[in-house]
Formats: sequence, C-alpha cells, structure tokens
Amino acid sequence: MDLLDLIIEYHKGNERQGPGSEEATLKALELIPYLDEKTKILDIGCGTGGQTITLARNIEAQITAVDMLPQFLETLKIKAKENNLINRITAIEMLMDNLSFDEGSFDVIWSEGAIYNIGFEKGLSLWRKYLKDNGYIAVSEISWLTDSRPDEIHQYWVNAYPEIDTIDNKLSVIEKCGYTNVTYFTLDDKCWIENYYQPLLDNAEEFLKKYDYADEVKEFLEAGIIEADMYNRFKDYYSYVFYIAKKK
Ligand code: SAH
Repeated sequence: MDLLDLIIEYHKGNERQGPGSEEATLKALELIPYLDEKTKILDIGCGTGGQTITLARNIEAQITAVDMLPQFLETLKIKAKENNLINRITAIEMLMDNLSFDEGSFDVIWSEGAIYNIGFEKGLSLWRKYLKDNGYIAVSEISWLTDSRPDEIHQYWVNAYPEIDTIDNKLSVIEKCGYTNVTYFTLDDKCWIENYYQPLLDNAEEFLKKYDYADEVKEFLEAGIIEADMYNRFKDYYSYVFYIAKKK
C-alpha cells in the first residue's frame, strides 16, 4: 500500500479534504458580483466537491471541477446526481499545473485548500490566463496571522510548506501575479476542527483496523495527529485565509 493509496482511502469518504466550511464558501461567494446562469466557474483541486456542491446550489453558474484523483471525482459525480446538479457541474480529471482550457474561458476561478500542491505563486501565475478580463479568483491558502511566532510551529510549517507566509506577503504575491486584491478573511476554528481534523481522527481506529495495524498506516495516522495537535496548540499564529482578487 503506497502513501497515495492511503491518502485516497482515508480521505475519499469525507465531505472535505482540507479546512473549510459551507459558510466560508458562501462568504467568499457573496464578495463576487454579477453571478448568473452565464457565469463559468473553474473549481481547481475540487476533491470530493464539498465547495463545488455549495457553489452549484447557491448560484445558477456552470461549474467545471478538476482534480487529479478520479476516486474523489467519482464521489463528486454521485453528489452532483443526488443534488440534481449534473447539468451544471462537469467533473474532469486534470492536473492543476497542466490545465487544458482555452484562455479567457472562465469568469471565476475557485480553489479551496489545494493551490499549495503546486505553490501559491505558481498557481496564481499559471491560472491567470484562463480568466476573462476582470474575472475573479477566490483561493484559500495557509498563512501566518502574526509577524512572529514560536519556533516550534515556524519550523513545522516551513518544513511542510516553505511558501507559508504572512497575509501581507501573500497579498503582495497576488498583486505581483497580475491581480488586484479585493478582500480576504480568515477561516474559523470550525473549518479546521469540526470539518477537517475531527472526522479524520474519528475514522482513525477503524482505518487502522482495516489495514491490520500496519506500521505504515500507523505512521500515516500519527502524522495527522501531530498536525491536528499543532493546530490546537498554535492556532493563534496561522490559519487558512480566503483571498478574493480580480484579474488586472
Ligand atoms: N477543495 C477540496 C479539496 C482540497 S484537498 C476541499 O477543500 O475539500 C486538495 C485537492 O487537490 C485533493 O483533492 C488533491 O487530489 C488535489 N490535487 C493535489 N495535487 C494536484 C494536482 N497537481 N493537480 C490536480 N489536483 C491536485
């Protein structure tokens, strides 16, 4: 069992694969004007589609949702069907750094908890051309909330994701990549604990049993427990931040 298979198995039954909430998705959505049935949204790194379904249920837009994992896309397709949304959601297996759409195809690019996979700056730069003029991007990214922080948490996250940075520096990156910042807000505790870490921790024992308490599964779960513990101890210093910006 390799690590990717474990990740897929562990996450595919969950509503979300990263910190987030329906409320946060809707809050970001309300900050974007002129959304109607002609609006085309590209949801990048959609996972099992928590935010995709929220978007589709709340506005009439056409949504293209992409992810590299067909197992997650399958779940999204089932949910789209259950919600009678198949005519407005198209799920496509695609790599976020190798998208194949025409330039200027979308009014809005959406991406929750996913851009870090290729890096914030690279993602913002690569994705810009797929937006129409004056199109919007709504993207969540882990960010430092204060200018300084305890060494332990600094080391932990810089090691896990070297591009983690302060909100001010993230805003500068957004401008540098050819967007005008509109606004941003920080995801709350519920996004992290109730919606992300808790369901994973609740499933851990059953998951371990399923794989007969294999060492590699223990290690994998242990890494998750450490990450959740870091969050509980140091949440004053970092969070996911939802950035909303407009193509310049
Ligand atoms: N937006 C969802 C999922 C976030 S997890 C949510 O908030 O719940 C990040 C997602 O990015 C995963 O589904 C993962 O499969 C996908 N991903 C990671 N690297 C990718 C890449 N290079 N191209 C496309 N998708 C990728």
